[in-house]
Amino acid sequence: MARSLNILRSTSTPLSLCSTKSQPIFSTLIPFPSNPITHTLRISHQPKRGFRAGIVAMAASGSLPKSEDEWRAILSPEQFRILRQKGTEFPGTGEYDKFFGEGVYHCAGCETPLYKSTTKFNSGCGWPAFFEGLPGAINRHPDPDGMRIEITCAACGGHLGHVFKGEGFPTPTNERHCVNSISLKFVSSNSSRD
Ligand SMILES: [Zn+2]
Repeated sequence: MARSLNILRSTSTPLSLCSTKSQPIFSTLIPFPSNPITHTLRISHQPKRGFRAGIVAMAASGSLPKSEDEWRAILSPEQFRILRQKGTEFPGTGEYDKFFGEGVYHCAGCETPLYKSTTKFNSGCGWPAFFEGLPGAINRHPDPDGMRIEITCAACGGHLGHVFKGEGFPTPTNERHCVNSISLKFVSSNSSRD
């Protein structure tokens, strides 16, 4: 009996060493946190790839600001004179002056939609006239001499023409957006469906 008690006591002694034994056990856990590290490294590559793809998408949409040299390269000389140098086409010569097709007029510089054909009216002034732009598409700036209000494409800053108020045209806004045809690119509602 005494012998078996001794055996019990001797087998129970390691229990008292539990705290020291636990150290090696803890140290074997250390390699595990290294796995999440390699995992996070793998994750950190993904946003990098996404960021690069984002830049490509922005460049493709043409939304990046362009220098005047870049505009000169992509626009015709007459488009550049009017859109970028605030020129004016001769009255009665523009392709959309007497044109009343159904669709949307886009900016000739950046292709942003600017006017619906349903807002176009015949003002008889020699340039296309609209009583209203698409929401947020048109910016207004007083001319330096304070005589007129210039209108530009909000997306690219291209010069469109001028806006006049209170002339008495029978339109919902009593405004006339007097726009150079060459600043516009008409897209027919028939061709945009396919
Ligand atoms: Zn534009």
